[in-house]
Amino acid sequence: MREIGHFIGGKHVAGTSGRSSNVYNPATGEVQATVALASVGEIRAAVENAKAAQPKWAATNPQRRARVFFKFVELLNTNMNELAEMLSKEHGKTVEDSKGDIIRGLEVCEFVCGIPHLQKGEFTEGAGPSIDMYSIRQPVGIGAGITPFNFPGMIPMWMFAPAIACGNAFILKPSERDPSLPIRLAELMIEAGLPAGILNVVNGDKAAVDAILTDPDIGAVSFVGSTPIARYVYGTAASNGKRAQCFGGAKNHMIIMPDADMDQAVNALMGAGYGSAGERCMAVSVAVPVGEDTANRLVEKLVPKIESLRIGPYTDDKADMGPVVTKDAYNRINGLIDRGVEEGAKLVVDGRGFKLQGYEDGYFVGGSLFDHVTPDMDIYKTEIFGPVLSVVRAKNYEQALELPMKHEYGNGVAIYTRDGDAARDFASRINIGMIGINVPIPVPLAYHSFGGWKASSFGDLNQHGTDSIKFWTKTKTITARWPSGIKDGAEFVMPTMK
Ligand code: NAD
Repeated sequence: MREIGHFIGGKHVAGTSGRSSNVYNPATGEVQATVALASVGEIRAAVENAKAAQPKWAATNPQRRARVFFKFVELLNTNMNELAEMLSKEHGKTVEDSKGDIIRGLEVCEFVCGIPHLQKGEFTEGAGPSIDMYSIRQPVGIGAGITPFNFPGMIPMWMFAPAIACGNAFILKPSERDPSLPIRLAELMIEAGLPAGILNVVNGDKAAVDAILTDPDIGAVSFVGSTPIARYVYGTAASNGKRAQCFGGAKNHMIIMPDADMDQAVNALMGAGYGSAGERCMAVSVAVPVGEDTANRLVEKLVPKIESLRIGPYTDDKADMGPVVTKDAYNRINGLIDRGVEEGAKLVVDGRGFKLQGYEDGYFVGGSLFDHVTPDMDIYKTEIFGPVLSVVRAKNYEQALELPMKHEYGNGVAIYTRDGDAARDFASRINIGMIGINVPIPVPLAYHSFGGWKASSFGDLNQHGTDSIKFWTKTKTITARWPSGIKDGAEFVMPTMK
């Protein structure tokens, strides 16, 4: 059995805690590897390596730091097929979808190739008599990232790319469910010229996370995962004096106005609801058609498409979606479908009991559709994180708008309409972080920033874009006056510019 350890100080290191967890192939249910779960001591070893390497890296000029990322991007492109297959084998998503996962991370690496410009400070000449004032952005020192299973390529790169480009050393604690790709990314960073100790990957569970959150040498923590853990990580990191940004779960709505192009809306819902088996934090899980006629047309067009979804293992290059990640996820999703039936929602397409010939032990859930879902139901309130779409029928635009506004989560939302006024009003009034207008999964590109509102995000700076440069650096402001400008005698009054 393959044993996945850690990557510390530029080397593969076997786990020493005596604890490990199984890594499954979700398409077959087979255990394909075990992954070590780090102890406090192993986190400490990674921090010591990071601490030793970081000052020299921070003192490396930004153009040289950028060159590591230019080379890394090239290596990602050359190794794309191998990387995507490695990802799919542990996650279950199709290989093309895995390429999308890696490319979205690669784009953040391209963005940080501009670090010489992005990390420039500010300068004011003559802020006072013979006084110049300037602000510089220095790395926080050691940063850490804790990432979820659903984007094992993109999300680690969201974090380590800007952190490292800014001159930090980094400890990555990826999901224990698909740990191979993050370690491979760290190997490629070394091949791209990154000094050993700057990017360390330590596998683990809650024990490793707690060791990170209480370690006195880690200055900033970035987390992406479910909301209860995001809330916990945010609180624990903050009470240990760390800067933290923590992103949680979602329940993304798509409003379909009566004037929307219905074919476009239906195709958008198919991709956004069932792509990656619904295991995306920006997946659309609630469709809100406005008016009975819109709802009837929508459901009528959706049903045959859902019934003909091609579901397969990642080796099937024609599959629309693969299995869900674990047996637990499989049971949870099926349980929530049962719950929706009990609650009185109309299960129009039932994905329970779906079996794929030759893959009977795989964690496949068929595409499912509920109609007549109401806001008081558990299936509406809960993030299902599977291929299950709920239709909540709204009488009018105001009622449709109120649904995502009142929902606990605030990650993404979309509106399908041809009416510019409605779209503009929607974008202005909605209390959600990322809005799509005739775009189903409005994930901002690397040079904008990614982040939700409400229970989808804790902390005030987003992932990537210029927010990430702010998050991974501390501002230092210097006020300088040279002797020729200094008056004789002491000044006892607070200096002002009056
Ligand atoms: P998760 O919360 O179970 O795990 C995330 C990370 O936290 C993992 O590294 C895991 O090892 C660690 N962890 C798990 N339990 C812990 C505990 N008790 N204490 C400390 N650490 C713990 O999330 P997941 O199932 O891997 O990912 C799916 C979730 O992530 C969904 O809720 C999804 O919406 C969310 N997500 C959010 C975004 C976003 O940007 N908002 C992006 C992707 C995924």
